[in-house]
Amino acid sequence: MAAAKRKTVRDYIRTIPDFPHKGIMFRDVTTLFADARGFRIAIDQLLDPYAGTRIDKVVGLEARGFILGGAIAHQLGVGFVPIRKKGKLPGAVHSQDYKLEYGEATVEIHTDALQPGERVLVVDDLLATGGTAEAGIRLLEKLGAEIAGCAFIIDLPDLGGRARLEAMGIELHALCD
Ligand code: AMP
Repeated sequence: MAAAKRKTVRDYIRTIPDFPHKGIMFRDVTTLFADARGFRIAIDQLLDPYAGTRIDKVVGLEARGFILGGAIAHQLGVGFVPIRKKGKLPGAVHSQDYKLEYGEATVEIHTDALQPGERVLVVDDLLATGGTAEAGIRLLEKLGAEIAGCAFIIDLPDLGGRARLEAMGIELHALCD
């Protein structure tokens, strides 16, 4: 009997139509995170392109980037830094505004979260327009960090995020699109 085909990261992701707005296909990674094997292979594959690369800290974008980033930082044996939505971080912060489909948002980082020259890996679950990731990178630039790369589970290339980050000279990897 032929062996059953092993599930890939893509197979663990659930799509919920019309969430949070009509017309949006929401790529739900909670089903990936909830599966022990799925979560483990996702973390291993996100790290794979950076084997042998110096990474001093992992930076996670709120909120699913925290789940991925925490596991990656633990695996690498380095610290974790959150980039949060406005008003959540208790200490002194740098802020960066960015555009959403409807309106604007702001992300923040603690001013003392990183030292100039530290090399960071930026992590989030999904890259769409790239607005969130670009705002995060602007914050990291304010602190003088070097971006080793950006790692995502999912890239939606039609929405332009990949081209936008590559135009900034950012190296990025995604597990599926
Ligand atoms: P963007 O700033 O346009 O690249 O959007 C990326 C952020 O929005 C990420 O933090 C994602 O978690 C979330 N996001 C955008 N589109 C989707 C989608 N279709 N499914 C799930 N999350 C999404």
